[in-house]
Amino acid sequence: MKEIPRQVLKAWPPPDELFLELGSRAVGALKIGRPVSRGQLLGPPRNPQDGLVHSPLNGYVTAIGQRSVTIKVDSSSIGLPPRPMAIEGLVGSDLEEALRSLGVDLPIAPPPGEPAIISALVPEPGLDCAWVLWEDQLATLKAGAAVLRRLWPDGEFIEVVSPRSAPLGLGRLARCSERYPYTLPPLVKRKILGTWDPLARGMVEPSDLWAIGSVARSGLPLTSAPITIQYSSYLAPFGVRVSEALSQMNLSPLPGDVVVLGGLVRGRPTARLEMGLSKSTKALHLIRSSSLIDSYGLCLGCGRCAASCPLELPMDLLAQAPVNQWPETASRYSELLSGCLACGACALACPSSRPLLSLALMTKRTDCDDAARRQIGTACESPLS
Ligand code: SF4
Ligand code: SF4
Repeated sequence: MKEIPRQVLKAWPPPDELFLELGSRAVGALKIGRPVSRGQLLGPPRNPQDGLVHSPLNGYVTAIGQRSVTIKVDSSSIGLPPRPMAIEGLVGSDLEEALRSLGVDLPIAPPPGEPAIISALVPEPGLDCAWVLWEDQLATLKAGAAVLRRLWPDGEFIEVVSPRSAPLGLGRLARCSERYPYTLPPLVKRKILGTWDPLARGMVEPSDLWAIGSVARSGLPLTSAPITIQYSSYLAPFGVRVSEALSQMNLSPLPGDVVVLGGLVRGRPTARLEMGLSKSTKALHLIRSSSLIDSYGLCLGCGRCAASCPLELPMDLLAQAPVNQWPETASRYSELLSGCLACGACALACPSSRPLLSLALMTKRTDCDDAARRQIGTACESPLS
């Protein structure tokens, strides 16, 4: 039998420039023209619950915005390198604080009395680096698991394993469907615990474990993360501009192509190619216009959209409305579809290729007016095939 080659995380070549978004202004020590070192603190995160933002590489500051820093990468530049922080012996909230100061975005703790669930499943097509970590970074995942036990010391753990993953020795093993959308965290949690929690509190993905394990092993701030770029997996520094990442992969977007941040179904199309890859960007894909669906047929009333919905929502009732009436349709049915996960399973099942994910997104946004709904409809008009 032909052996499948082992997958590895490839190192990303040093970029020219980094663009990092912050929660507010950069720390006072940073000035334009001053050198920065890899790991040096840049400022607070955009979401106050997340880890602090550090410089991913050596360089010097070329611009400071209200909520951003631009760094010209220069390996000879030396700023104020951080000292390694020992986190052994820390538990609970002290450990949480130390991990955040090292740049880690922690998963949400499980509600009292509920076990934490470590999922080895690839949550969505196009996020392949989730399983590459099991082949190439097992020692770091195990280090992350050991820290997680101290972070949530009183809790029970369940490991959802796949044929590609190895047990981490944290708790009892469980299996789930590996078919999308049942790999999405709220649906995995529902399958294992029988509870419905759209926030999927207590669910831990391999990238979370990797980040925790990485800082535990080095004691240094987190400055890079695994990312899937056009079906290959890399360890890339935060802040690489989307345009530079595409050009490094020899990809030039042509008119009509779509650049997607995230997975292939739920990823977010972006036109801001100057923005930097952030800690939460787990994938970057360029979808050529030739593979986009540019027309859709009439609703056949077949009901496949409703039948494929993991939450059994009656998408077929809404989908039959003419597309130009969808903003109003979405307003009328927003309560009915309020629990929608925007997983896109209904759209993938539709034989008429109707853009049902747009309708789902419009319907979920109960807080926006019809003009905003029209905007969402335009942004999502061409669902990814
Ligand atoms: S996008 Fe919403 S309505 Fe469609 S299948 Fe997913 S949960 Fe159901
Ligand atoms: S799957 Fe498509 S064609 Fe069938 S009922 Fe739903 S929207 Fe209509």
